[in-house]
Amino acid sequence: MNNTLHTINASRLSERIHALAEIGKIEETGVNRLALSKKYKEGMDLVRKWMDEAGLQTRYDNFGNLIGRIEGKNENAPAVMLGSHIDSQPYGGRFDGTIGVLGGLEAVQTMMEQGIDPDVPVEVMSFCDEEGHRFGVGLFGSRGILGKLEQGELERTDAEGVTRRQALIEFGADPDKLEESEYNPDDLKAYVEMHIEQGPNLEAADVPVGIVSGIAGPRWLTVELTGDSGHAGTVPMGKRRDPLVGASYIIAAFNSLVQSEKDAPSVGTVGDLEVFPGGRSIIPERVTFTIDLRDSDQERRNTYEEALMNIIERTASEHGLEYTIHDDGGTTPKDASPEIMDIMKSESSEMGIEPPVLMSGAFHDASNMAEACDMGMIFVRCRDGISHNPAEYSTDADIAVGTELLYRTMLRLVKE
Ligand SMILES: [Zn+2]
Repeated sequence: MNNTLHTINASRLSERIHALAEIGKIEETGVNRLALSKKYKEGMDLVRKWMDEAGLQTRYDNFGNLIGRIEGKNENAPAVMLGSHIDSQPYGGRFDGTIGVLGGLEAVQTMMEQGIDPDVPVEVMSFCDEEGHRFGVGLFGSRGILGKLEQGELERTDAEGVTRRQALIEFGADPDKLEESEYNPDDLKAYVEMHIEQGPNLEAADVPVGIVSGIAGPRWLTVELTGDSGHAGTVPMGKRRDPLVGASYIIAAFNSLVQSEKDAPSVGTVGDLEVFPGGRSIIPERVTFTIDLRDSDQERRNTYEEALMNIIERTASEHGLEYTIHDDGGTTPKDASPEIMDIMKSESSEMGIEPPVLMSGAFHDASNMAEACDMGMIFVRCRDGISHNPAEYSTDADIAVGTELLYRTMLRLVKE
């Protein structure tokens, strides 16, 4: 689509994205801006400066989040929030998260420049520590404002032994007053996040943006198979109870299982496997492997999990193995609001584009926000599906299309 048709200021947005990428820059195109680090603070201060200049009321909260707000005609109405995060992985890219924060700011700034007074308040949120690399657990800011931190989370340490509590204090936050920064879900009308896809689907479909239908919930299990160890040269094939052979059948069957419904977004991964005792000439005694099963449809995920249990049971019995399955938890899938998806679809067609609807296989702050209010997400195409890497890349043109859609979606949501 023609850039001149955008209402948003695409070149201002691009300049900001690339100026922010200079803070914590690694190599030519990468970013290292770990949550609550000095570079993080510097980046957040720059975003705050842009928010101030645009005329938003800005503040840091006690979770290390940055909030820019404009009031609506009805000050007491629940707010529409646009946001994402600007913290990164240690070897990260410049688009993950940042386009959602700066795109949100661009949308609000454009609305103000157009002289449009929203009926309800609008907030741009830059969430603290979405990535979770530094302290081992992520989505900190979005869980924090909803009162969902876990016991002992402030005492978790980074690689240098610095606790999250210390890091928050260094940032300027007061970890003893976290409740003051919590939101009441009644004060939130909707949360809309624009993010790079971090997958290859939009590129394959040759479209700039997509509308997210929901965020997959992962199911995590650990499977242990036990057989008989023995000498690789002396135990006849017919006399073996080899757990690695059993595991191989299970892993292959699991891989087929999650592909059994054509066009469904289900994904299944065995990402870790341990063989004990492990040696070229030893038949293994014990094999442990992990299961990561994700789907946007809870029912289908349950069906697959049940089928996987049957596969494990049958394979173990065929190979004479004992097995245990450890429940490592997971989260439920989160649906995007059908109303917001409809708004995005109708605004897209006004823009002359037809974004596909797709699931998010990765977590986002939107996963938490969906529990508090209506949630919507826009995905922007990224090259080769690469992210969490300096090679991560989205074009200015695609980001502009996504931001225009974000802007139009926001305009519809700020009307009472
Ligand atoms: Zn992200």
